[in-house]
Order: sequence, then C-alpha cells, then structure tokens
Amino acid sequence: MKKVLIGVLGLAGVLVLVAAGGLYWFKTQFDEASAKTVASRPAEFGDHSILFVGAHPDDEQLVAGLLVQARAEGAKTYMLTATRGEAGQQHPQIARQKDLGAVRMAETLVNSYALGVEAHDVLNYPDSGVITVPEEELIAAVQARMVLWKPDTLATFWPESGFSKHNDHMRMGKVAKIAAERLRAKPVDGYAGPKHIAYPLAPSKAMRLVGGERGKWVADHQPPAQYSIYSNPAVKLRGWEIHATQRDYVQADYGFPAWFVHRIWNSEHYYVETLK
Ligand SMILES: [Zn+2]
Repeated sequence: MKKVLIGVLGLAGVLVLVAAGGLYWFKTQFDEASAKTVASRPAEFGDHSILFVGAHPDDEQLVAGLLVQARAEGAKTYMLTATRGEAGQQHPQIARQKDLGAVRMAETLVNSYALGVEAHDVLNYPDSGVITVPEEELIAAVQARMVLWKPDTLATFWPESGFSKHNDHMRMGKVAKIAAERLRAKPVDGYAGPKHIAYPLAPSKAMRLVGGERGKWVADHQPPAQYSIYSNPAVKLRGWEIHATQRDYVQADYGFPAWFVHRIWNSEHYYVETLK
C-alpha cells in the first residue's frame, strides 16, 4: 500500500514538472530573442510625449504597457482612433448592434482616461472601410493632431502587417508615418514632427505556432523586434473590463482566457524607426 502511494505521488510530481516545463516553454514562444528588454522607454529615447494612432476602439490595448509606463515617468500621452468600431462583433452582446459605434467610442474614451492619456480624439471613419477614405484626408486628420499635441514619439501599426493583417490597421500605420515624415521635412508652427515611430509587433514565434495562416503571414511581414517592455497584464485586464463589448474577445479569438494570455504574453515588442 505504501509503495503504491509513493508511486502515485511520484507520478503526480512528474506530471506537475512536465506541465510546468510545458507552460514555461509556451511562455518563451511570446519572447523575441532579437529584442532588448528596456525598463524605461523615456530613459531610452528621451520621450516627453507619445501619440498612439490606432484604427479601432481597443487597439490601444496593444500599447497599453507603453502608455502607462510613459505616463508614470512624466511623459504626456495622446491617442487618435480612426473609427468607432461599429462593424465589430460583441463578446458578449450587451448593446443593440446599431448602437455599437457609440458604445465602443465611450469604451475607448474611458479606457484612455484610465491609462492617463491627456487627450483622445475618436473619428468617425467607417470601421473596416478606412481603405475607402482618400489617403490625403486621413493624412491631414493625423497631421492636425500631431501639430496640436506635438508628440516626440508616434506609436502606430507597422504598415505592411498591421499587427493582425487588418486593412484598417495597415492603412492608419501608413498615413500616420507619412504625416510624421511630412512634418519632419516641413515643420508647422515650429513643430518638426515626431522623432521616433514605435511599431508594436505581434509575438512572431507564437503567431507561427498558434496563429494559423494569418499568424504566419503577420510574422513574415513584420520587422524583427528591437525592444521589449513589460506589458502590464493588470492594465490590459482592466482594459477588457472597460471594453465591455469585447470583454471575452481574447477567449473567442485565441481560445484561452484573457487572464491566462496576458500573464503568459507579458511583454510588448517594438520596432523603432528614427526619422531624419
Ligand atoms: Zn483594431
């Protein structure tokens, strides 16, 4: 009897070790070997102000770690969201679908306030139809906010991959980069545009492992990560509570609950471009 008990306990111990090892290995799939981990972005880049240009309410979740850390170190942060996210699905459904744009606009404004963002404009371009808006109109909309808020760093989507291959993301990344380059070349009101562009990147190993065809495509079309910062899982989980229509989105899209995903994937990876 005693031998059986020792055998069972031994087997249980082995299973726990295998599970812990598997979990550790899974966690490493969200790291980027090419990236340098930096504790402080402002210290690394001398940032005093950051503008995040996104496409949809909740896109700020991808850079929430960056925004709260910059804010905590005294930098000012700003946000511009191109659409109200009216074409999205609800996870779970908590509002009339026809009201979704208004509800999601409110959600992102509440979340940006919680992140300590100084000012946040949400525009009314068509969700999933940003590609139909004339490029010059979008560039002018972004440039107007840059001139108003004068960020020294722009955070936006890598135009070739958009973090998730979403057309709206790629389009906003493209126009934001053009707006920044034009200001560098031709300052307005004495403001010569942002000096850096920080592009948040998807974790490439995990994308190839569990992201399906789209994940592989994204990993193939984004640059190697240069910097990693702590992603602040608690802030992201709070973000999903605030984005109530998207609260179960992570579970629906990734197949794992948000608390698990954000604890395993607890870094934000960036490629940083310095503008001349
Ligand atoms: Zn989005």
